[in-house]
Amino acid sequence: MSDNHLPTAELQALDAAHHMHPFTDSAELARKGARIITSAKGVWLTDSDGEVILDAMAGLWCVNIGYGRQELVDVAARQMLQLPFYNTFFQTSTVPAIMLAKRLAELAPGDLNHVFFNGSGSDSNDTNLRMVRHYWAAKGQPERSIVISRWNGYHGSTMGAASLGGMKGMHAQGGLPIPGIVHIDQPDWWSEGGDMTPEDFGLERARQLETKILELGADKVAAFIAEPVQGAGGVIVPPVTYWPEIQRICKQYGILLIADEVITGFGRTGNWFGCQTMGFTPDIMTCAKGITSGYIPLGASIVSDEIFNTLDAADEFAHGYTYAGHPVACAVALENLRLLDEDGIVERAGSEIAPYLKEKWESLTDHPLVGEAKIVGLMGSIALTPNKATRAKFASPTGTVGYYCRERCFANNLVMRHVGDRMIISPPLIITKAEIDILIDRARLSLDETLAYLN
Ligand code: PLP
Repeated sequence: MSDNHLPTAELQALDAAHHMHPFTDSAELARKGARIITSAKGVWLTDSDGEVILDAMAGLWCVNIGYGRQELVDVAARQMLQLPFYNTFFQTSTVPAIMLAKRLAELAPGDLNHVFFNGSGSDSNDTNLRMVRHYWAAKGQPERSIVISRWNGYHGSTMGAASLGGMKGMHAQGGLPIPGIVHIDQPDWWSEGGDMTPEDFGLERARQLETKILELGADKVAAFIAEPVQGAGGVIVPPVTYWPEIQRICKQYGILLIADEVITGFGRTGNWFGCQTMGFTPDIMTCAKGITSGYIPLGASIVSDEIFNTLDAADEFAHGYTYAGHPVACAVALENLRLLDEDGIVERAGSEIAPYLKEKWESLTDHPLVGEAKIVGLMGSIALTPNKATRAKFASPTGTVGYYCRERCFANNLVMRHVGDRMIISPPLIITKAEIDILIDRARLSLDETLAYLN
């Protein structure tokens, strides 16, 4: 047992008795006991038994800068002393919120120059949903209210965000989606591309947006929302033809394009934002996670001049969260962005680490269980399959093999997540080449153990 806590078994029992976990089978948790993480540094976690684990998921896709940065602690402490809270409602503001909005406007592409702060990715997407409807109403087109999104997209867990998402298991609980949100298919060539080339498939999936707009009537559609690269859906990297066609369609029909950059923002894909890597310019970006490297919660909706000017001329947007522009969160975000920039973390992740990780990650395709390996920047996935040539699925229910592999990774002190039978990674951007070698070795060992189990 390390320093300051109860024995692991006692913590696990208390956890199972009193702590309700998100997206967790509580019966299984009670049976197995949670793995309790007590400290972290760089890319390494330490658990309550003193085991040291390589975190190839950056927490929950968020600790871009890595664990243990004293600078972030210092600015948070200073800000808490100076001004722990003040709101940004009713004609007041705070210095950290102002300076962070300015910095985000500098970093964001195109004319995305205006920032509405939120508390998380989910509530940022709720903001977006209300904002695009308010925008069209302000333009005299209130009937333009439908938002199109994608099956197997993930946009959060609130009623609005879970409806925007396309996770059928989430929709099944509580009667989602809410009205006014419709879904089209995802650009997942491996699972759904059949005999098409990835390029043709990318075009076909993008054109589903056009078909849907024409079916609904362009004058009824407010916006299309998507992740530049689906994260929680399994790190689905779209074919290169996909995004240019989506951008064309949105422009042609005057549909607002919302890029949900909650995962793909702040260096994850090798550029500051995923839309830059994928080659399109949205009207709104949803940000959270990497904005503070997860050290403290914060979300943001960054919007274009056109949206801002329209809202500015309209009735006040009757929307806002108490913690919007929280001064401590904004101060931490500013320092995080300074370090990501001035320490060259985003630059190095894109130019040096991403190519190395790509080579190593793709080398896993020589493993008998691995079909495709996809990676963009520092987010990657491998598809597990019993037959690479036919891209077959396992006979067992989807996710059984992926879950087993994930458990082997965990036992081998590697955090790698599974989505169905895809294994995914999203390590801190500060991961070194030597640490990538360890990641790959542990992944390969876990794949071997999974293969042995299947045989
Ligand atoms: N959007 C995307 C793309 C996400 O991946 C997530 C969370 O993983 C969210 C939104 C929701 O963010 P939060 O969990 O901060 O509410």
